[in-house]
Amino acid sequence: MRDQHLDTLLEIKELHTYFYTYEGVVKAVNSVSYLLYRGEITGLVGESGSGKSVTAQSILQLVKAPGKIVDGEVWLDGQDLMSCSHAEMQAVRGRKISMIFQEPRAALNPLFTVGDQIGRVVQLREGCSRSDARKHAIEMMRAVEIADPQRRANAYPHELSGGMCQRVMVAMALSANPLLLIADEPTTGLDVTVQAQVLDLIRTRVKSAGSACLFITHDLGVVAELCERVIVMYAGRVVEQGPVAEIFQNPRHPYTQGLIASTLRVDIDKPISTIPGTVPDALRLPTGCKFHPRCPYAEEPCQYEEPEMLEAGHGHTARCHIVSGRIEREMQEEAWALQAPRVE
Ligand code: SF4
Repeated sequence: MRDQHLDTLLEIKELHTYFYTYEGVVKAVNSVSYLLYRGEITGLVGESGSGKSVTAQSILQLVKAPGKIVDGEVWLDGQDLMSCSHAEMQAVRGRKISMIFQEPRAALNPLFTVGDQIGRVVQLREGCSRSDARKHAIEMMRAVEIADPQRRANAYPHELSGGMCQRVMVAMALSANPLLLIADEPTTGLDVTVQAQVLDLIRTRVKSAGSACLFITHDLGVVAELCERVIVMYAGRVVEQGPVAEIFQNPRHPYTQGLIASTLRVDIDKPISTIPGTVPDALRLPTGCKFHPRCPYAEEPCQYEEPEMLEAGHGHTARCHIVSGRIEREMQEEAWALQAPRVE
């Protein structure tokens, strides 16, 4: 155990998770560090393949072979998760940390009814009777807007639609009353009305329990609506993080600027733009700044020098030579060199 800032619930420090494939090593999570605070929802955004889900799997130590956590620290409420045994981690999963997975059908057990699966989580937490756990399961199913929960509690996952299974996963995760909720695209497959209700339920639970939520999503609109802080990942690295209002008003990294510009907004009359190119092949990442082949501001140093994560003010950090002033300085030096009188 060690001292942490009072509000810090989770601390990830220099986390590295690699996949050892026949073609080479994929550095899916590379030197990732961030903090999650009690009572706050933090959005984790980035395109597919940026390392968001592998970061979440690493926190839970659910990385499957050929993946491996090769270095780093994960502290939850003062407990060092990296030094936990298999049995200790099993106690952490479900009780201290719950996860809503992207693929609800794959995550639910096909051999048990959904009511039994939610009830089992409650029994583990409360040590209550089976009938009390079932009552709680039905209440939770009602809270996530599952119609006729008494009847649906007796259904097996294959008897429910994808959206319904997603709501069962949300009910299960919230029933555990965890310290940390990891939600990986939890509203995919839900219509907008149910999506708003599920987001509201997550917000209320996190605030009232003083827990923290890591909300993984592609949808910056949801981040703006739900989260206090946001972490932007690209090619396995965190490239920008800070308070949501600050990042949306003053994005410093060109990738974040591109993500915001490509989000549909009804409040401003501006055409949507797209980020040129695609996410690089994880086996053949570019040298220097990993975003340089797609960056409209890329300069020569970007091609050979990886930028450090630097303070951008107001609790906001970004990994870009623009933040360090490197590009401006080099451009100024170039301009001065052109203006300077020639000494023969
Ligand atoms: Fe663009 Fe260079 Fe900043 Fe990378 S370091 S995001 S290439 S300006």
